[in-house]
Amino acid sequence: MSGRGLLTSSKEILVPERYQNFHLQPLAGQWRDGSGDAVRPVIDPYSGRTLVSIRAATSQDLDSAYRKAAAAGPPWAGTPPARRAELLQNVVALFDQRKEEIIDWLIQESGSTRLKANIEWASARAITQEAASMPARAQGATFASEVPGKENLVYRRALGVVGVISPWNFPLHLSQRSVAPAIALGNAVVVKPASDTPISGGLLIAKLFEEAGLPAGVLSVVIGPGSEIGDDFVAHPVPSMISFTGSTPVGMNIGRIAIGGQRIKKIALELGGNSPFVVLEDADIDLAVRAAVFGKFLHQGQICMAINRIIVDQSRYDEFVEKFVAHVRELKVGDPASIETAIGPIINEAQLQGLQRKIAQAREQGATVLLEGNVDGQLMPPHVFGDVTADMNISKEEIFGPLVGIQKARDEQHALELANDTEFGLSSAVFSGDQARGLRFARQIQAGMSHVNDTPINDEAHLPFGGEKNSGLGRFNGQWAIEEFSTVQWVSVQREPRDYPF
Ligand code: NAD
Repeated sequence: MSGRGLLTSSKEILVPERYQNFHLQPLAGQWRDGSGDAVRPVIDPYSGRTLVSIRAATSQDLDSAYRKAAAAGPPWAGTPPARRAELLQNVVALFDQRKEEIIDWLIQESGSTRLKANIEWASARAITQEAASMPARAQGATFASEVPGKENLVYRRALGVVGVISPWNFPLHLSQRSVAPAIALGNAVVVKPASDTPISGGLLIAKLFEEAGLPAGVLSVVIGPGSEIGDDFVAHPVPSMISFTGSTPVGMNIGRIAIGGQRIKKIALELGGNSPFVVLEDADIDLAVRAAVFGKFLHQGQICMAINRIIVDQSRYDEFVEKFVAHVRELKVGDPASIETAIGPIINEAQLQGLQRKIAQAREQGATVLLEGNVDGQLMPPHVFGDVTADMNISKEEIFGPLVGIQKARDEQHALELANDTEFGLSSAVFSGDQARGLRFARQIQAGMSHVNDTPINDEAHLPFGGEKNSGLGRFNGQWAIEEFSTVQWVSVQREPRDYPF
């Protein structure tokens, strides 16, 4: 099959009108209401304004989306690589043409500051660009055989249907980093975005792919609470893979269902983090402070890679604390749309209350308050605690907000022990004046990602992103995403009659 005619719009994309109808969802090839009774508002966490109200999808809607994906997948997988690449390039062009519109949604829907929204737009665009290279990079192989006259061929092929579940903190990027490679490699996809961010985590992406020319039904978006349709989403017999990004407890449950149900599925789990940020005694403190402030407070600390624990050699502790607190005190808290704002709103009331509990607990457990402030609506100013120890909850739990504790390390060995004293292993960072020492230290951190003289927040579309321990399973980006979102089939051809023993 040539694949011609499968792309439904031309390569040339004109400057578009603003997208409309975000109360509907693309289910099984048609934009329509969910069939559920509940209608849920999508709320701007800064202004409290309702952006749109969406009728929830049901398990029946989910079933039709999966069945349509199962039918739409094979012709899409049979589309020549250059045509699939062209589709992804069309999406990249739309990222550029609709940049301001995309950034506006990220600010309004997820409370992203303008800076964070720009960063997220750029990351989502970059992974789309990277995905455009994947159809041509997906390789098979041939191998010699131990059996005389046999030829061994290893074919790479699409998985079929991939189910994607994403969180609210980087909704556009974290959906797109599964959706773009999966589609590029010939899969059909059903996405379940987080209830707080259905537009930037799903509907906006579906509009971009539709406008870029993706055939109807290859991508569906199902909007409904994870607690209601989540189990069915994972247990459904159609998807061959579930790509989940979110919290560790939900991820563990998804793993159990995906492996323990009636059909075993491939799973990718990108889960919680507890990033250590280590400052050794030979570090440049001014540089370390700047990295720590950015690595902690970007997006109000609501990032899986965000600094969760600052660990400073005791000989530099006072100097670090003084400069860090002075810098953090200057951060502007307020309207995320304003270019000067560093810290915008917390995503929702429940998250805010959870953070207030963590602050109260840190005080009760004996941490020294170095900086605090009053909550105003959903705005929480930065909180900094000193004299924090490894047994306090603020050290052990993922914080996911604008508060942080600083711990003292006796020496390098102690700093390493503290850094590794966690159930998580996503990202990490170490500051040292000696790069070789920094590199040695980084290689001993039990984490999927470690950065020397930088923040733990780093993501590049061609480098492996993922965690160890309870931070997850699998890797995103580049060649690692090709492995994740495809499978291989060993086919052998016996070219000469084989000499069987009986
Ligand atoms: P969450 O686990 O509560 O929700 C994530 C997604 O799972 C949402 O779409 C939600 O609706 C869905 N969900 C909830 N219950 C479900 C169920 N029973 N079955 C199926 N789906 C269900 O996480 P969150 O609060 O949206 O996001 C914050 C968490 O995500 C943090 O722990 C953070 O570290 C993690 N995260 C990890 C990465 C990473 O790459 N490792 C990136 C971003 C966020």
